[in-house]
Amino acid sequence: MENILYIVVPCYNEEEVIRETAEILKKKLESLIVKKKISTKSKILFVNDGSYDKTWDIIKELNIKSNIFTGIKLSKNEGHQNALLAGLLSVKERCDMAISIDADLQDDVNAIDDMVDRYINGFDIVYGVRKDRKKDSFFKKKSAEAFYKIMNILGAKTIYNHADFRLMSKRALYSLEQFKEVNLFLRGIIPMIGFKYCSVYYSRKERKAGVSKYPLPKMLTFAMNGITSCSVKLMHIIFLTGIFSIILSVVMTIYCLLSLINSKTVSGWTSLMTSIWAIGGMVLVSLGIIGEYIGKIYMETKRRPRFVVSEVLGSSSNKNLKAN
Ligand code: UDP
Ligand code: MG
Repeated sequence: MENILYIVVPCYNEEEVIRETAEILKKKLESLIVKKKISTKSKILFVNDGSYDKTWDIIKELNIKSNIFTGIKLSKNEGHQNALLAGLLSVKERCDMAISIDADLQDDVNAIDDMVDRYINGFDIVYGVRKDRKKDSFFKKKSAEAFYKIMNILGAKTIYNHADFRLMSKRALYSLEQFKEVNLFLRGIIPMIGFKYCSVYYSRKERKAGVSKYPLPKMLTFAMNGITSCSVKLMHIIFLTGIFSIILSVVMTIYCLLSLINSKTVSGWTSLMTSIWAIGGMVLVSLGIIGEYIGKIYMETKRRPRFVVSEVLGSSSNKNLKAN
């Protein structure tokens, strides 16, 4: 085992920060090489996600200066998650472990040492988790908290306060490849892989330069995509609302009949009121039932692996731990 580490950095219009980021990551890699924790073949991979500024030119320039810098360029902007996946999957054969980190270095590069140590101690996935959100605005802090809570209630198990700063071993990367879905939400999928995992904690800093590529509308779309791509619980909620509505219709029927007996109603009111509640409930229950089937079809179309094998005994080939 050589411990080849690849640091994967998705970049979208990051010309203002990428040089500094490259320098800092190079120093980090070199220090780990000196400490003999990782192989001399370790590298940094920049994924240019369809930037329209000078990002790709800078990546090419960096690659000419030092072969520690490598890069791939996507044909157009595919979004952070796809850029990350492209990077991770393209290094999986060459590396023993890969760490994904944002180009703006808001995440603490010093946590990389801890991550590598955990990998050496046998962990396959090491999540970088924010200790605090002091630097975030009140709104960002609260909306992020609400996001994680709602996600978990709705059945998509994510790691609280973990973004996409994480280490994955080679076999975890191969398993990730088995998830063929197009609507990608890595934070929800990676916990599904299993294997031995742990977290390292760090303080998140402010962006070094440039602006966030996640303005509010993009963040909301991301949240909605996260919820709908990992869970079909919203459909159960429709069904439950229907049942609740039918129960309420029984109560309303009793109330309407009592009003009718006491002659407190105008003609037609009782039948109208009882039917509104009953029909409404039935429509919701029907939608919920259809939803359950659609949910099943949805999950089937994802063709996710049904299991991931982590170790094999008594066989000569335990190299590849693919699932299906
Ligand atoms: N990014 C990307 N494609 C996009 C949007 C963002 O590759 O379409 C990259 C971006 O260059 C950065 C990372 O994703 O490295 C996270 O973006 P950003 O720092 O703007 O998000 P924030 O930290 O504000 O949530
Ligand atoms: Mg950022």
